Amino acid sequence: MTSAQELLQQYGPREAMEYDVVIVGGGPAGLSAAIRLKQLAVQSGKEVGVCVLEKGS
Ligand SMILES: Cc1cc2nc3c(=O)[nH]c(=O)nc-3n(C[C@H](O)[C@H](O)[C@H](O)COP(=O)(O)OP(=O)(O)OC[C@H]3O[C@@H](n4cnc5c(N)ncnc54)[C@H](O)[C@@H]3O)c2cc1C
Repeated sequence: MTSAQELLQQYGPREAMEYDVVIVGGGPAGLSAAIRLKQLAVQSGKEVGVCVLEKGS
């Protein structure tokens, strides 16, 4: 099995993006939570990075 160190040497560091909130699942619960968070952020004049991860196509 290839170790993390070997993968790093072969392909270099992976690209990474930072978020304040990561929501797993893009069903009604996940999407409404993401929308509500962004609405609250706008209301309070703050920037919130929200990422929704959905396993389905
Ligand atoms: C056959 C059927 C018919 C229904 N009909 C109705 C209806 O007519 N009206 C109604 O109001 N409700 C209906 N419901 C109920 C409704 O579908 C659920 O109440 C609602 O979808 C629940 O939403 P949720 O966001 O909690 O979960 P889900 O809708 O299940 O969303 C969860 C999401 O997370 C994703 N996920 C799971 N694990 C991972 C992972 N590890 N990484 C990334 N993503 C992941 C899934 O792919 C899914 O998209 C029905 C349900 C079924 C099964």
